[in-house]
Amino acid sequence: MTLRVAIIGAGPCGLAQLRAFQSARDKGAAIPELVCFEKQQDWGGMWNYTWRTGLDENGEPVHGSMYRYLWSNGPKECLEFADYTFEEHFGRPIASYPPREVLWDYIKGRVEKAGVRDYIRFNNVVRQVTFDEQTQRFTVYAHDYTHDTLTCEEFDYVINACGHFSTPKVPYFEGFEQFAGRILHAHDFREALEFKDKDLLIIGSSYSAEDIGSQCYKYGARSITSCYRTTPMGYAWPDNWEEKPLLQRLENNRAFFADGSSKHIDAVILCTGYKHHFPFLPDELSLRTDNRLWPMNLYKGVFWEPNPRLIYLGMQDQWYSFNMFDAQAWYARDVILGRIPLPSQAAMIADSQQWQARELTLETNQQMFEFQGAYIQHLVDATDYPDFDIAAVNETFLHWKHDKAENIMGYRDKSYRSLMTGTQSPPHHTPWLLALDDSMAAYLGEPVTPIKSVG
Ligand code: FAD
Ligand code: NAP
Repeated sequence: MTLRVAIIGAGPCGLAQLRAFQSARDKGAAIPELVCFEKQQDWGGMWNYTWRTGLDENGEPVHGSMYRYLWSNGPKECLEFADYTFEEHFGRPIASYPPREVLWDYIKGRVEKAGVRDYIRFNNVVRQVTFDEQTQRFTVYAHDYTHDTLTCEEFDYVINACGHFSTPKVPYFEGFEQFAGRILHAHDFREALEFKDKDLLIIGSSYSAEDIGSQCYKYGARSITSCYRTTPMGYAWPDNWEEKPLLQRLENNRAFFADGSSKHIDAVILCTGYKHHFPFLPDELSLRTDNRLWPMNLYKGVFWEPNPRLIYLGMQDQWYSFNMFDAQAWYARDVILGRIPLPSQAAMIADSQQWQARELTLETNQQMFEFQGAYIQHLVDATDYPDFDIAAVNETFLHWKHDKAENIMGYRDKSYRSLMTGTQSPPHHTPWLLALDDSMAAYLGEPVTPIKSVG
């Protein structure tokens, strides 16, 4: 009987899985029957922008956390697919920090070429997954909103590729109830112009805090105050951006901080991260972890150790992204195809413990991305995913970190060499701070004259 594999989500991880199977099929392998359930109307996951917040057109929680004017926050050379380069897609080298729409187009290009769209059931939300010990099969219950029907089908494997940057962590601070301005989480942030001429408070000190603050600065916020719980971001911010220890309370429009200082603010954006949240999975199948490099109970970072027929993709904190998802998907494919055997449960657990012991020794950013690079190399070595120069990617991450330390508002003006083709990327035609139109047409086209001043 042909194996049946369910894939939950057609974001970069789910699409990597489809591409991995298609690649094996093209080389002559018999592949399982694949069904990919995708709750949105199109593919690309987080990169498929939505203007909606709250609930979507079907009353489901909106998946998207991306916003207008979002540009890649790392060099594209660090996430390039080893089997489909930017040069192949765009027909020429492009600059190193593309905006969202450009990256979405790139993701789509590979799977359009692979011809895997027919495996996907769009507008289908997975509601529940159960496992029958006797038959060793999963039952996947889904709501098909196109036909407004409920479906229930059996599968031999389930691949959970639903992402983990959608369900916001929303802490409470005293005085929120009386605050006269807007309070929102980064998940609901869409349009920086909403905060033009406003005094903005940002809570958090990681990528969302840095990027949403930078966006709002770029599109004309009057001032930015960011505050941290553990560590400040510590960049050389523009004059109207101040970094403070954590907010203690709000009194009307005044924010009070842990150092005793206070400031007038008009709006608050909670850049406080996301939860791994799988409401469709029962307790015994549900990964529980914070956002870290080695979540426990996942053998090779993907196989659910209590039941390795359940596979999680992309659940790690991400230095590497698209090419890490590929490495995972190719490995998962080869286990499903019987090319790579899984060891005993005890051996899987011991293996994960070793990786996590290593993770716990990491102190610097460099050690962290080198750790993730070593993990990817380990997976790539076991499959036919094209080998790529991970040491060179780590080197690019290091340059990126230095560029950010040097100029947080200018690092996106740098460009790097493709580690897949060797071609040096050209500089972008317009400095990031002046590039207000984030469309693909503007990015790939000629420089435009800025229509407004910044800062
Ligand atoms: P997602 O892209 O989140 O895709 C998951 C898919 O699963 C979605 O299409 C969703 O609709 C679907 N789904 C979820 N639940 C269900 C269900 N129950 N039933 C059916 N379908 C379901 N990474 C980078 O490399 N560079 C960046 O610059 C970058 N910027 C980012 C900016 C923001 C604001 C955020 C939040 C993330 C960013 N990331 C970035 C990380 C980004 O999450 C990854 O690049 C990538 O999108 C992860 O792919 P994924 O497939 O795991 O998850
Ligand atoms: P994150 O990296 O998990 O960071 C969460 C932040 O929230 C941390 O600074 C954390 O502080 C803080 N925090 C959590 N709970 C808090 C609380 N109760 N009080 C105060 N602070 C609290 O999440 P993220 O910054 O949202 O990033 C998520 C992903 O999105 C990343 O992969 C990132 O690369 C991506 N992203 C990319 C872009 C882009 O430009 N392309 C933009 C935004 C986000 P502690 O340090 O104290 O834990």
